Amino acid sequence: MSSGPTNINKLHTKPAFELITLGDTGGIKDGNLSAFLLRSVEDENFVALDAGTLVNGIDVALAAYAFTGLTTTPDSNLRANGNVLHNHVKAYLISHGHLDHVGGLLVASPADNSKPIYALKSVNSTMSETYFNWLAWANFTDRGIEPKLNKYKVVDLTPQQQTPIQNTNLTVTAFSLSHPLESTAFVIESNNDMFVYFGDTGPDDVEKQGKLNAIWEYLAQQMKSKVLRGMVIEVSFPNKQPDNLLFGHLTPKWLMQELTRFHAMVENKAQLTNMNIVISHIKYSLKAGEDPRVTIKRELNEANRLGFTFTLAEQGQSLVF
Ligand SMILES: [Zn+2]
Ligand SMILES: [Zn+2]
Repeated sequence: MSSGPTNINKLHTKPAFELITLGDTGGIKDGNLSAFLLRSVEDENFVALDAGTLVNGIDVALAAYAFTGLTTTPDSNLRANGNVLHNHVKAYLISHGHLDHVGGLLVASPADNSKPIYALKSVNSTMSETYFNWLAWANFTDRGIEPKLNKYKVVDLTPQQQTPIQNTNLTVTAFSLSHPLESTAFVIESNNDMFVYFGDTGPDDVEKQGKLNAIWEYLAQQMKSKVLRGMVIEVSFPNKQPDNLLFGHLTPKWLMQELTRFHAMVENKAQLTNMNIVISHIKYSLKAGEDPRVTIKRELNEANRLGFTFTLAEQGQSLVF
């Protein structure tokens, strides 16, 4: 293997991925719930990483000129948001079935076009049984209760097995995460570049299942021959949230402990510290007082002794990695 720092720097002269934030909160603000679009910069086709907010997120991103990099001639029969949803969002990766991660997909489904939904088997089962069941919603998928409208092809991902994402130049490898119901981390690859998206997750020391540790080990191993370009990971609550009320989520303290464990495994520390770590799923608060975003940002910075680069996800923003 020859992947010293020089090689890494050379690879970094050009970005590999674009990430557009469609929703940055982990509840309770409808219109801005967990959802991201990711693409390889060599292609104009995105995969959606969760879809808590979809059409409103596309509208906010359009207003922020996030899609101006797309050069494909738009379909004149569609509004700008319809053009993005139909012609540039080619697949969904769903981390788990909680409403704040799937509500946007569900409500947009009558006007969406055909595309695959990729998820772990238990997540797809939750979607079928809970939503696409002709009670909560019509069955727009190709499995479950008849009649099946067959708009969405549901694909079960085998954990830790690389799968191509249809109509993109991306592949995905899924890892199970600990949460009140099974959640998922997705390692997305294009060429020699990797990006990792975490659905909701508790810390290993609270959840006692070692699931984050398994991903850190996998990524540290892969980083010997590939480049990890970026990460989206959740911090739902400020540090004052007690451990018995985390409900399968992270705080700045717990994220820092997990990243410190990862840092110890990685050979090329600079690759990790130079990389943007995007913080998602901050719980919006109706309470008066300091905005949780401000508190979380300060708590991350105060504990950042290893020099990580943190960015708080912001709805409508485009970032390249
Ligand atoms: Zn959530
Ligand atoms: Zn959740």
